[in-house]
Amino acid sequence: MSVESIFPRLEALLPKVQKPIQYVGGELNSTVKDWDSADVRWALMYPDAYEVGLPNQGVAILYEILNELPRTLAERTYAVWPDLEALMRAEGVPQFTVDGHRPVRAFDVLGVSFSTELGYTNMLTALDLAGIPLLAVDRGDDDPIVLAGGHAAFNPEPIADFLDAAVLGDGEQISIAISEVVREWKAEGEPGGRDELLMRLAESGGVYVPKFYDVDYHPDGRVKRVAPNRADVPWRVHKHTVMDLDEWPYPKKPLVPLAETVHERFSVEIFRGCTRGCRFCQAGMITRPVRERSITTIGAMVENGIEQSGFNEVGLLSLSSADHSEIAEVAKGLADRYEGTNTSLSLPSTRVDAFNIDLANEFSRNGRRSGLTFAPEGGSERMRKVINKMVTEEDLIRTVTTAYSQGWRQVKLYFMCGLPTEQDEDVLGIGDLAKKVIKAGREATGSRDIRCTVSIGGFVPKPHTPFQWAGQADHETVDRRLKALRDSLRGDREFGRAIGFRYHDGKPSIVEGLLSRGDRRVGAVIRAVWEDGGRFDGWSEHFSYERWMSAAEKAGVDVDWYTTREREENEVLPWDHLDAGLDREWLWQDWQEAVSGAEVEDCRWTPCYDCGVCPTMGTEIQIGPTGRKLLPLTVV
Ligand code: SF4
Repeated sequence: MSVESIFPRLEALLPKVQKPIQYVGGELNSTVKDWDSADVRWALMYPDAYEVGLPNQGVAILYEILNELPRTLAERTYAVWPDLEALMRAEGVPQFTVDGHRPVRAFDVLGVSFSTELGYTNMLTALDLAGIPLLAVDRGDDDPIVLAGGHAAFNPEPIADFLDAAVLGDGEQISIAISEVVREWKAEGEPGGRDELLMRLAESGGVYVPKFYDVDYHPDGRVKRVAPNRADVPWRVHKHTVMDLDEWPYPKKPLVPLAETVHERFSVEIFRGCTRGCRFCQAGMITRPVRERSITTIGAMVENGIEQSGFNEVGLLSLSSADHSEIAEVAKGLADRYEGTNTSLSLPSTRVDAFNIDLANEFSRNGRRSGLTFAPEGGSERMRKVINKMVTEEDLIRTVTTAYSQGWRQVKLYFMCGLPTEQDEDVLGIGDLAKKVIKAGREATGSRDIRCTVSIGGFVPKPHTPFQWAGQADHETVDRRLKALRDSLRGDREFGRAIGFRYHDGKPSIVEGLLSRGDRRVGAVIRAVWEDGGRFDGWSEHFSYERWMSAAEKAGVDVDWYTTREREENEVLPWDHLDAGLDREWLWQDWQEAVSGAEVEDCRWTPCYDCGVCPTMGTEIQIGPTGRKLLPLTVV
């Protein structure tokens, strides 16, 4: 049965809201399939505003893959701003997709991609606007399966009550497999209702269905056990890993946004995974092992993506892009190919030690030498050893000296505050490092026109990392250290004016910490915050620490217990039944080594140190050199 577009009702509301263009769809390369041509229908949600959600690679890739399948369709939906939400409630307009403007409740699956936990309240808004019961137990056969993915889904326990299912890891293959399970179940006449569909998904071992697992607690509040409550449901659910990225060269048809978005470029993921071993980095840990895309596929994707989209910037994405084993050839090949055109290249994520000036020069050939960004993360040598960010002060100074002497004038440095074992002097060390950077730049150029911006975020211990046991620093400590650093920079007559200082106060990190390492009891807090008006928690102008604390108090949830408490080795962690492939003993050993400042090498270049991922997942490190050239070459 066909589903009507709600657009005529929405259109009447659009003149009354900010940025109405974000709700109209119809972007270049968007797809609206005939509703009746499909028997499995996905609504894909990025739980933030269009300007953040549209460039999201995960959603873009799944959108294409699912729409390429016969008899399957996928449409996108984003979080609506509070102004439109109020009007939709007043007029009874449901949560809609921007492609066909179809009501989200009419779809079979609502897939929500979480890059951050701060999107949880936006999912509740979408469910409520869609007319889908917030709690999974209250849903009926006419409601979609609400399925979470993305990095934050590696501990979906705080939102377990709102989810029907969650998927860990790469979505390309599992989204197709899920579509097949749904198709078969529908073709059979939907036997056993949604319970049987969820059972079929859970039995496969690749989909986590929270309601099939019971959580028991110790009297002191720690988790005692998480166990399946049905036969045939696995004790542990494993992550998915796509081994050959060349077989999945998506996006092939990049979406071109209608409204301004956070990234206006065509992004090609040049490899997935990272084995640098930074202990704070959840993305690095959960996406192991490294799998490179070949130079030929990168070249073909760039050429095709530009042709299909008209973007004039190409971003080569990954967790540490300069680490691709053939990055020099990739950079030179692309710079040669697009020299003299209006296409520029960018390398959004670069490590200090992997950076070299030839590379930077290749990337700036067609663009401006605006600024370079590096992330030493820790202010002192000791701190960087604890977090395994193997960057020495010497590395950093050498790199920035070369950059300044080659004409770059701005360097941005990212750090974290509140890291395990951190002392006041580690944070003050950030200022010393910035001063040395300015000094080196002045000496290299003979000019005082040198800038360095220091940007600092609060550290949040994340599941599936060696710091998953660590006590998070309280926000008072973080704020006190940052204030001391700011005062020391402001008071410096020699360098103070050349150093920009950006930081966030410590409170949002505490809420992120609660959500990151929370268990199912934290769901009551999320719901209470949402009921109290919590929306867009990732936006400082919408975030309210007081709202979260008051909701936690009402729900009887002790925020300190979840955040600043250090965990013991044998404590069952709420996500222990979810398998990112990392060996728990190795993670614990790495945590102990962190405290003593022992470093771990990158297993790309040194022997395997048994983190567990490759044998558990049946995967392997996959890097070049392929020895191949950047072909096919087209003279532009
Ligand atoms: S199992 Fe070994 S090779 Fe594989 S990611 Fe872990 S340390 Fe590296």
